[in-house]
Amino acid sequence: MTTTKYIFVTGGVSSSLGKGIIAASLAKLLQAQGYRTTIQKLDPYINVDPGTLNPYEHGECYVTDDGAETDLDLGHYERFLNVPTSQANNVTTGRIYQSVIEKERRGEFLGKTVQVIPHITDEIKERVQILGNSGDYDIVITEIGGTVGDIESLPYVEAVRQLKWDLGEHNAIVIHLTLVPFLSAAGELKTKPTQHSVKTLMESGVVADILVCRTEHELPEDLRRKLALFCNVREEAVIQSIDASTIYDVPNLMLKQGLDKVVLKKLDLESAVPDLTQWNQFLQRHKNPKTEVTIGLIGKYVELQDSYKSILEAFIHAGAENEVKVNVEPIHSEYLSEENVDVKLSHLDGVLVAPGFGERGIEGKIDAVKYVRENNIPFFGICLGMQMAVIEYARNVLNLSDANSTEMASDCENPVIDLMEDQKTITDKGGTMRLGAWACDLKPNSIAYNVYKSNAIMERHRHRFEFNNNYREQIEAAGMIATGINPDTKLVEIVEIPEHPYFIGVQYHPEYKSTVANPHPLFVSFVKAALKRKNKSKDATMAQK
Ligand code: GLN
Repeated sequence: MTTTKYIFVTGGVSSSLGKGIIAASLAKLLQAQGYRTTIQKLDPYINVDPGTLNPYEHGECYVTDDGAETDLDLGHYERFLNVPTSQANNVTTGRIYQSVIEKERRGEFLGKTVQVIPHITDEIKERVQILGNSGDYDIVITEIGGTVGDIESLPYVEAVRQLKWDLGEHNAIVIHLTLVPFLSAAGELKTKPTQHSVKTLMESGVVADILVCRTEHELPEDLRRKLALFCNVREEAVIQSIDASTIYDVPNLMLKQGLDKVVLKKLDLESAVPDLTQWNQFLQRHKNPKTEVTIGLIGKYVELQDSYKSILEAFIHAGAENEVKVNVEPIHSEYLSEENVDVKLSHLDGVLVAPGFGERGIEGKIDAVKYVRENNIPFFGICLGMQMAVIEYARNVLNLSDANSTEMASDCENPVIDLMEDQKTITDKGGTMRLGAWACDLKPNSIAYNVYKSNAIMERHRHRFEFNNNYREQIEAAGMIATGINPDTKLVEIVEIPEHPYFIGVQYHPEYKSTVANPHPLFVSFVKAALKRKNKSKDATMAQK
């Protein structure tokens, strides 16, 4: 049996250095040489998972097929590798402690005092090796969230130290990411922060094998030599990570720097030339669009780009597929009203109403849906966005003026969106939604059926509220059709308005499954519809002239 090799990615100075992208890029290069590679993220916070975190804190919550609510870096891993991740790919301090405490309650520690070392560190070590022991991977990359030297990172660094020792030479290596700042006043790149960061790591007994230095300027030879000498790494193991115009450039930048080669050499594995043909074709299309479209993204967390990370990335994949640059215009739903909706939306080629929770900003979303429905602008509603489309239709077409979701108005007379029976008794917030992949049957001749080219699909969910089937007949008779149904529960997963040029709302989150290798068909078709509208209005203006 071949042993699985482990790569740990740690970071100094700042957690926003892009460890996730470096890990995903390295994984891509290893995968493209035939190594079965996966990536795991360890997060040092005490939440059991990021599901209960406000998007303003850590950006979007990513969801896997098996229903894990995870860090958004897992989205990058899937988008780069096109391989699904699972609960095992994201572990938090909260989960580690929860599991150790449960074991203690079951009496598994046989009367011993339960301590950070060895019990917490053993649990971390076990979690790190779950993926490796599955036999599915040749290489496991483990990204340690946070910053080396922080109190909360200590048990992880100690676990890395022990694992490196346990696994032996050539079986586990440490990549350390640091910042090489540029002082413009002095016109100089500074190596001190890197030296200190490596030193901090060494104080915990961990030697960095490779340095990845985040920098705004090229690292000159003499500076690399200096870093190598003072940080005790070979010169070839000093890798620069220069700011890139797109994250999708990073695998090629790392290839140029030889990161994959140094890694494989240190792991005693053979290296080959990675086959990035498909990746580079995507980049080629992404960087050379023939035209552009503007899509309005209506949400309430638009101030923070990371809140809608997967949606933005899905537009990049769909844009490349269509050879179109997709300009996403964030529109804050809280400041949208019947009075200004025309000014804010009339120039758009398409409108996406985003997922979300709670009451804030929903009336603006409903006004937006009404506007695009009446003005034939392509519409794509995701999760809460789909629910808003149903409410708008019930209010303005069926004349059920108080139609709402019981999430927003628990005693409304027409709860067209309502809690499922089995959700009504749940009081805990964490991990209690309808989560993960669920089956959906598609109605022939619908938009969904035509874009998926299949009559049965699986998509990932993260919500509590549902289309209320008591209203289905009435809503369908008025022209909004349920075109995707869960075969087991009969829940409505997709609604469409066939009369409209392009109007679709989905209860699930298609954005989680869009990857470079497999752009999501719903995003691809939505961009196509936006392009069609743009060309049509251009033709109309030409004809007028
Ligand atoms: N708040 C809605 C629900 O819980 C929608 C959730 C979402 O958009 N992810 O059903």
